[in-house]
Amino acid sequence: MSDYLVRAANTPALRSIIKSIGLPTPQTLVRAEGGYAEQPLKGKSLLFGAAENSTAAKSLEKQLSATGAEVIASDVAVLGDDARFHALVFDATGMSGPDDLKALYNFFNPTVRKLQACGRVVVITDQPETAKDVAAATAARAVEGFVRSIAKEIGKKGATANLIYVEKGAESRIEGPLRFFLTPHSAYVDGQAARVTKLVKSDGGVALSNALKGKVALVTGGARGIGAATAQRLAAEGAHVVCLDIPADEETLNATVQGIGGTALPMDITDPEAGRKIADFFKDKFGGVDIVVHNAGVTRDKTLANMKEQFWDMVLNINLASILRINEVLLGEKVVNKDGRIVCLSSIGGIAGNMGQTNYGATKAGLIGYVKAESEKLASSGICVNAVAPGFIETRMTAEIPFVIREAGRRLCSLSQGGQPGDVAELITFLASPGAVGVTGQTIRVCGQNLMGA
Ligand code: NAD
Repeated sequence: MSDYLVRAANTPALRSIIKSIGLPTPQTLVRAEGGYAEQPLKGKSLLFGAAENSTAAKSLEKQLSATGAEVIASDVAVLGDDARFHALVFDATGMSGPDDLKALYNFFNPTVRKLQACGRVVVITDQPETAKDVAAATAARAVEGFVRSIAKEIGKKGATANLIYVEKGAESRIEGPLRFFLTPHSAYVDGQAARVTKLVKSDGGVALSNALKGKVALVTGGARGIGAATAQRLAAEGAHVVCLDIPADEETLNATVQGIGGTALPMDITDPEAGRKIADFFKDKFGGVDIVVHNAGVTRDKTLANMKEQFWDMVLNINLASILRINEVLLGEKVVNKDGRIVCLSSIGGIAGNMGQTNYGATKAGLIGYVKAESEKLASSGICVNAVAPGFIETRMTAEIPFVIREAGRRLCSLSQGGQPGDVAELITFLASPGAVGVTGQTIRVCGQNLMGA
């Protein structure tokens, strides 16, 4: 669905009129046009700075150079008035207390105006939970407030800011998230804090392009919307994708899989035998499954006092209970391969709660708890399990929302616009990739830094 304000604000003749009447002027976001590339930032300049006692700088410099970007070190750079950067990257590891936070000011104050439209800010800092003492933990956690705030300042030019917390010894695993956050693949992921840890045991290498070659994926609810966009994106990265959807939607399902050379699996996930049937299907046809995306979901909104029991039961069953039932079989029988990836579709409604969505909010929050608990159990088999929480995404569902509420949903985020199904597909694909090995048990939002629950 197209957004009239994004179109108008990017038409020179209309932009000043829109500004003069006090409406936001959202920037058209630069989105990725293809799959992952070995050198996605070739031809772009990136300014890199580090705190005085940083512990990740060496590793980061290598990872940044490998993107193909021209990496300019801030301590040696003399910046002219016309210097412009695609990205500002700051390594805030090794800070010992609040005084060290001044390094953030010193790096960003003279440079933030030099960030290009749709540019990127990425900051890396230590994981507060494993910091050496209270003062160091305080400083590391403070960085999150800084990043979320600067994201709100640069959002009007379509630029994003994200944070990577890194556990000591997991520095080599920053590369995947770093590439994701620095490239157009993360166009609508803004104001997020991803954690990179050593928790998941894996000796698998990180493919930087064709990242899912040879992998087999399952996408539930894959006939349309976010599920279909995800199936397309996973296939573009080289995976064979099996799309599952209800038998009543078989025609749409077939059309989706035909477009990507995938396989259709008509099934209702609430079928008590669904786990058994899916497990047998993957064992017989592919010997297992590498990526499972639990995307199928429904809403049945009513305030709690007016909610029929059947709508409570239905939403809880489709959005939550079925997922646990299916995973129990797939994981119990080791149908999910070593180094596998599981991604569940949560929602910002599960983080903030929503009027009329006690059923939906409970399921989407439940998934946040589920991925955290399951991640610990699966770590030794190399399997990562995460959730994504979309905000306002332009789909059939959001097109039906009354105009005023729809406008609020779209504009109340730092990027002043709704996301596209492809934006959610990009985050899911990143979490499904080998490069996400350090990321598990987390819920990452794809919401343009929506104010809801932020
Ligand atoms: P959609 O309605 O366009 O697609 C959902 C698909 O799931 C449909 O094809 C449907 O047939 C399928 N499905 C429903 N019940 C099923 C069942 N019992 N068995 C098998 N398939 C079933 O929805 P969407 O907007 O693409 O949303 C996809 C996911 O993202 C959902 O989990 C939703 O809660 C979540 N989400 C969406 C948004 C948004 O703005 N669109 C925001 C937050 C979260």
